[in-house]
Amino acid sequence: MTAQTMEELVSLCKRRGFLFQSNDIYGGIKGLYDYGPMGVEFKNNLKQAWWKSMVYERDDTEGLDASILNSPVVLKHSGHEDTFTDPLVDCRACKSRWRADQLFENNKCPNCKSEDLTEPRPFNLMFKTAIGPVDDGSSFAYLRPETCQQIFTNFKNILDSTSRTVPFGIAQMGKAFRNEITPRNFIFRVREFEQMELEFFVKPGTDDEWHEYWINKRIEWWVNQGIKKENLKKIEVEKNELAHYSKRTVDINYVFPHGEEELEGVANRTDFDLGSHTKNQNDFKITSEVMKNSSSTTKLAVQDLEEKKWYIPYVIEPSAGVDRGVLALLNEAYREENVDKDNKRILLSLKPHLSPIKAAVIPLKKNNEELVNLSKEIKSNLQKLGLGRVVLENSGNIGKNYRRHDEIGTPICLTVDFETLEDESVTVRDRDTMKQERVSIENLSEYYKKYFN
Ligand code: ATP
Repeated sequence: MTAQTMEELVSLCKRRGFLFQSNDIYGGIKGLYDYGPMGVEFKNNLKQAWWKSMVYERDDTEGLDASILNSPVVLKHSGHEDTFTDPLVDCRACKSRWRADQLFENNKCPNCKSEDLTEPRPFNLMFKTAIGPVDDGSSFAYLRPETCQQIFTNFKNILDSTSRTVPFGIAQMGKAFRNEITPRNFIFRVREFEQMELEFFVKPGTDDEWHEYWINKRIEWWVNQGIKKENLKKIEVEKNELAHYSKRTVDINYVFPHGEEELEGVANRTDFDLGSHTKNQNDFKITSEVMKNSSSTTKLAVQDLEEKKWYIPYVIEPSAGVDRGVLALLNEAYREENVDKDNKRILLSLKPHLSPIKAAVIPLKKNNEELVNLSKEIKSNLQKLGLGRVVLENSGNIGKNYRRHDEIGTPICLTVDFETLEDESVTVRDRDTMKQERVSIENLSEYYKKYFN
């Protein structure tokens, strides 16, 4: 089961501290959200799972954390200054603005139904900001609209400082910014979001095979995070809808509460980007349409040792949205169950590695010194195992704690009661089955670790 509506998720997220409207006390800003105490843990866990699978578990990738402010020259050569646009229409009647390709009824304003709309015109989605103390328009930067351009501009730095040879990849996670015309559907389409991007460099000619490999690998990863395979769709992007750099793109769509849309895109960007940022383009046979006259002083190419020739690698890019991942996984994990004929419960059946809180330790009686001290010790020992956040709940209300931890997806709750002082064991309650069993304190670490295997 998933959530039935987006409202159910929005309400849970606010109630339990996953997500809040940004700048809320001053009326909020559209398209911006803040991650609360549970949200930040969940989002970090998701990013960490991606980093593990992209960097730690592979022998052919490196990581990067580059600056968010990008030089306009980089985004000129990447093609973003000229082509990173959406078609904008204005409604002359109610003065609202819309993306022409997202009008539900052709040529009708979704707000007031007027047909008095302007012709679509290109609207660049990049945010600009001034650099330095004088804002006279002469020195500015863009907030990056995708994380990957700095991967391309650092290509040579990374080659020179590691012993990598093609095929290899560079992974990066971080913020990206797009001035979306109509942000909507909670955190699905926002103006400030995070991406997890891998640029995987390959020899031209092997690119189609690597592309297939990454499409399948990425679907498998989302399934491992807890998304049912039948809720993921592989969508071939039509030739006339491909981004300016792409030879072929396959979107991995997910059935969100508001409908099926893109969760991740896997593109074959060819040698477009490295080629565009390379100075002496005449030295290479660059097969894609690239910007001419690059002012970059660097040759972003590698040597083919057998053929003794330089070439510009092709790049396969799996690019996933962190926030869309958060939304998809919350939706997949959402359950409503009847506990008995009078009681219902909501729970998030998250995979334990993603749960914001890994375990809650609850002394049966609030402020009872012996129980609280022992609980603190148990909490601290579990915390030291380094699997994520463990909390102490000193409120004395077991039922309320169980409800809260079901709703935030805590895999286990441990109750320390008066019997514990005698038999040195605690009651462990499993989130999904609600089954309770006594586990000796001595065996707790092993018991707890099993949840993460
Ligand atoms: P869309 O067609 O939905 O606007 P896109 O094709 O422009 O997305 P890409 O440029 O391929 O998106 O970006 C890679 C990933 O970044 C997307 O798959 C998505 O998960 C995420 N992403 C892109 N734009 C946004 C946004 N405005 N809000 C949240 N996530 C986004």
